[in-house]
Amino acid sequence: MNALPNKHDRKRTRLTIIVPKRNMLARKILRIVRMIFARLRNNKFEYMHLSGRHDSEMGIVINSDLSISCNSDDMYGNGKLGSLIKNSLADILSGEVATRFRADLARGKLPINECANCSALISCSISTAIPVEFQGQITSILIENTAKCNLHCLSCNRSAIYKNRDSLVIKNADIDLVRKNCSPFNIKRIQFLNLGEPFASKNIFNLVRTMRLQFPYAQFVSSSNGSLLQGKEKVLAALMMDDLNFTIPGTNQASVERYQIGQNFDLAYRNMCETVRQRNEAADGSTVIIWKYLIFKWNDSDECILEAVRLAHKAGVDILRFVVCLSPIHAISLRYLGRQSLGEKVNSIIGKRHTLELIGHRHFDVYFGLAKPKMAPATGRGGHTDGGRTVERATVA
Ligand code: SF4
Repeated sequence: MNALPNKHDRKRTRLTIIVPKRNMLARKILRIVRMIFARLRNNKFEYMHLSGRHDSEMGIVINSDLSISCNSDDMYGNGKLGSLIKNSLADILSGEVATRFRADLARGKLPINECANCSALISCSISTAIPVEFQGQITSILIENTAKCNLHCLSCNRSAIYKNRDSLVIKNADIDLVRKNCSPFNIKRIQFLNLGEPFASKNIFNLVRTMRLQFPYAQFVSSSNGSLLQGKEKVLAALMMDDLNFTIPGTNQASVERYQIGQNFDLAYRNMCETVRQRNEAADGSTVIIWKYLIFKWNDSDECILEAVRLAHKAGVDILRFVVCLSPIHAISLRYLGRQSLGEKVNSIIGKRHTLELIGHRHFDVYFGLAKPKMAPATGRGGHTDGGRTVERATVA
């Protein structure tokens, strides 16, 4: 019999409802502020992958129910442009909703709240010609092979996601439909991730293999909380990626479960070690394996950072990526919000012998023995992605 939830558990469960609602309110306000500023500065907007004329890092999303969203944070369905069940991807991107979104942006209006912090949104001067028609190019796409997840992260509104999907998994029978819709485009990057845990679906192997045959030279990326990435087919699917992220926000059970409610640190870490081992044993194992360590106020001490470096080294991952998270607000690490860059700080903790390449300020990569690793692309919410921003690098000899 399950034990009754204690006071601490009840508080954390409440937080999983409060935090996404608070994020939504913050977005609403930010959207209005951005539109006011755009008007004052005589600016308008363009959404990189919706216009179809840019090489964008993020991309249009194929959701688990085959609906298409314009952004990777579409928990409430506001960004849905259509469905592959009724129309082709090309038609959806030229269709009524997408055209209305582009027209709004070209007038300086942000069509939905999710635009407020979208990494694909660019501001341009009023004199820039922004086409309202879709220009035909897609270089990057996200495939949400499943919206299911075994965890309940603080910033992830699971009940809203489940309410907004007619199917929680891309069925085997629909995989070819996904491939066919993508095939007319010159897609350079496919990310198997969005608002679910990709390895919660056993279909992932068939999907990745089908897309790999269609796009042999595209960069494949996925991101997992680690706890379900086990078993032959799932590991094979994982090792078909160019970049594989394990999002494990801490070095022990107490630390990870403060953000990832339901996470089992030992299991996730063990699965990460095992995936590295199988990658190393595979004759053609070239997947870059990244441990993504989200920094919050409870896991930001020097001891925690050093322990993460030690465990990453022991696991044999190629990159330990520190990411300073700005959500939920009550969990922000104040130590890492100061003027000193994240890279300088981490470098001073892990020691002078590491080379440092300063690029940005919210991410910092520690490389283990990789002379020139391929860079993983950026991805969104706390759980999975890093929002298209730049990183700083340090190499551990
Ligand atoms: S952020 Fe990712 S791991 Fe966390 S609950 Fe959402 S889908 Fe699951």
